Amino acid sequence: MSVVGVVGAGVMGTGVAQNLAQTGHRVILVDVDQATVDRALWQMERDARLSRMLSGSAVEFDASVVAGQVGLKGLAEADVVVENITENWDLKRALYAELDEACAPEAIFVANTSAIPITRIAAATRRPEQVIGVHFMNPVPMKPAVELIPGVHTSPETVTRTTALLEAMGKKVIPVRDSCGFVSNRVLMLTVNEAAYLVYEGVADAETVDEVFRSCFGHPMGPLETADLIGVDTILHSVVVLYEHYADSKYRPCPLLREMTDAGLHGRKTGRGFYTYAD
Ligand code: NAD
Repeated sequence: MSVVGVVGAGVMGTGVAQNLAQTGHRVILVDVDQATVDRALWQMERDARLSRMLSGSAVEFDASVVAGQVGLKGLAEADVVVENITENWDLKRALYAELDEACAPEAIFVANTSAIPITRIAAATRRPEQVIGVHFMNPVPMKPAVELIPGVHTSPETVTRTTALLEAMGKKVIPVRDSCGFVSNRVLMLTVNEAAYLVYEGVADAETVDEVFRSCFGHPMGPLETADLIGVDTILHSVVVLYEHYADSKYRPCPLLREMTDAGLHGRKTGRGFYTYAD
């Protein structure tokens, strides 16, 4: 059974760990505090049970294959580490330097980022040929495809090993060139940011913006429901990464996203964002 380290036990790390556990991998799940790790373990069991009920699927979730912990100890066992920490370059850069020390020399680092270029992340390690981007979609266990992003120095062997892992997780792999925001978030983040501006300027409220996208375009979710699902803070961080990288005012972050982030209105994960959630 291969061992995969999953660092960051928030929205994405929880989904990645659950998906790995359900597809025959042993997982070491890491965050900075025990309460977050415990919540992630609880959420995985709940989500796996819910999805079994809703889909009638026979996929079991065996909690014993996931070891939750604070700190990087034990990651030397991992063949692959999937990094899912906060979308903040300073935090990621510091973590990759630590991972380089803590992990086996042959381990691959998979960066799950919304926008940060993979080549920049790889440069924070001494193993750039073993660093690759995988842009997982949320919620991870339910989404069928990922963007796969090799950096400038990523080796063909790293691409092959990562593709095999993703296929074992049940994912269709869509390779794209390394570029800040990749394909998905160059478009999605602009859309969500502009949708936030419509609310900020009083052109329409969140319900109306989303209703236009659902009823007129047939989208299953509007952009502001999507913002709440992703995390309003993660949207802000990603738009800031795009704005700084391209030095292009079209990515100027909407002040409403900043205010909501400061106020803890991060969407589903905090119970309130553009909408309010009972759970
Ligand atoms: P999140 O805020 O829900 O979780 C991030 C977690 O990382 C937090 O629990 C935090 O405590 C932890 N963390 C921060 N620094 C850490 C460190 N040094 N070591 C261990 N844990 C640390 O964020 P998220 O939505 O899970 O996003 C994680 C990454 O995935 C980001 O880079 C984001 O851009 C990317 N991403 C997010 C989505 C989405 O829909 N939310 C989709 C694709 C990619």
